[in-house]
Amino acid sequence: MQKHYDMIAIGAGSGGLSAVERAAEYGKKCLVIEVKTIGGTCVNVGCVPKKVMWFAANTAMQIKNAKGFGFDIEQKNFNWQALTTARENYINGITTWYDGYLQKLGIDYVHGFGKLVGKNSVSVNGKTYTAEHIVLSPGGEPTVPHIEGAEQGITSDGFFELKALPKKVAIIGGGYIGVELAGVLNALGSKVEIFGRADTLLRGFDAMIQKALDKDYTAHGITIHHGTIIDKISKNKTLLTNNGEFDGFEQIIWAVGRNPMTQHLGLEAAGIVCNQQGFINTDKFQTTNIDNIFALGDATGRAPLTPVAIAAGRRLADRIYNNQADRHLDYANIATVVFSHPPIGTIGLTEYEAEEKFDKVKVYQTEFTPMADALLEHKTTTALKLVCVGADEKVVGCHIIGHGADEMLQGFAVAIKMGATKKQFDDTVAIHPTSGEELVTLR
Ligand SMILES: Cc1cc2nc3c(=O)[nH]c(=O)nc-3n(C[C@H](O)[C@H](O)[C@H](O)COP(=O)(O)OP(=O)(O)OC[C@H]3O[C@@H](n4cnc5c(N)ncnc54)[C@H](O)[C@@H]3O)c2cc1C
Repeated sequence: MQKHYDMIAIGAGSGGLSAVERAAEYGKKCLVIEVKTIGGTCVNVGCVPKKVMWFAANTAMQIKNAKGFGFDIEQKNFNWQALTTARENYINGITTWYDGYLQKLGIDYVHGFGKLVGKNSVSVNGKTYTAEHIVLSPGGEPTVPHIEGAEQGITSDGFFELKALPKKVAIIGGGYIGVELAGVLNALGSKVEIFGRADTLLRGFDAMIQKALDKDYTAHGITIHHGTIIDKISKNKTLLTNNGEFDGFEQIIWAVGRNPMTQHLGLEAAGIVCNQQGFINTDKFQTTNIDNIFALGDATGRAPLTPVAIAAGRRLADRIYNNQADRHLDYANIATVVFSHPPIGTIGLTEYEAEEKFDKVKVYQTEFTPMADALLEHKTTTALKLVCVGADEKVVGCHIIGHGADEMLQGFAVAIKMGATKKQFDDTVAIHPTSGEELVTLR
């Protein structure tokens, strides 16, 4: 007999889990289907293991920098296996916790590949389940281009499976995942080279951030090859590019984007419409062109971040099960952090975007060596920028690179989301001595 639910989610990542959790809290009967591991990308091969590696890299840098503060410390050994085993144990703890949590909420869980077989039905492991509402939250997977020898490279998923720290690594792609992995590997002792198609790292970010990161990464030993297109990878991992040949790499990491996992989802069975790249089209309420089927998270191609998928899932359940007719996620002014070394925090419009959109744009910015590095041999850059528009100088963009940017931005994001002006920033008394205080004293 077919089992009927209020909500079925295909994909137990950030988006799918948050939708069924919230729906269950409203007393709804839910099923979540997962083909790999509960928790999805973020928990298993994304934010969480990445941040553990970032902390490890910070520790390596602090050991190096300790001399500047008078400590006679030498890094004798670094045990990659010990780090990655501890990391995986930590992640197993999270995924095990999820099992109990779903049980507690009365959410059913099926391990397998879920496929739409109709407007209200999903099949998995040969069984069909029906539901009033279906949530498509299959996320994405790393892109590997179709060039000769591409299979010799690994992706971010493969990075988390590495059994040893590679001596020399080529990272192909200068987007956020590429620069994050580059920073980690460089700090832990690999020789890192980044190959990017564009003229800058982090295309789409504010130019101040791009320049500062380029300068710091180069100063800390990372080689950056801009404007480089990989034509082929020969047998011994040699990169053949428009800018010549590069060899000697123990690992090559593809970090050239992510594809939505929508290909075998049975979208045609329900008549769901995707865009040309395979991302599922939705309206602002996460509704697809079929009124009882919704899509969330990375598979929709908008702001591919965990908190975005979570917020969209929760709001969806609030709307359909708790009489909040207009509840939806506002995709404007979403703050985000790049866990580079140093980290980057950014929200809103870049200077360039603001100039394209508004007549009266005023930019306030500064760049300095943070006090944390004042006594050190290897210094980093801190740079901050506020992009303001109109007569009242409403702050429409805030861009930070430097120690603490990751933790600094969240509070400023609240102010910017509320529509704060430059004067309100100025009226806020500074916290001294910090880097963050510069954002309320910019002139
Ligand atoms: C290396 C890396 C670092 C990242 N760092 C950050 C960060 O620091 N901060 C941040 O906010 N975001 C980060 N992200 C992005 C974040 O992980 C994603 O935005 C988030 O996981 C998206 O959630 P989702 O629910 O859309 O998809 P996912 O979390 O990818 O979950 C989708 C799940 O669906 C499953 N699935 C797919 N198809 C089917 C099917 N047919 N049947 C059953 N199951 C299926 C998949 O196996 C997967 O588990 C990072 C991503 C990567 C790759």
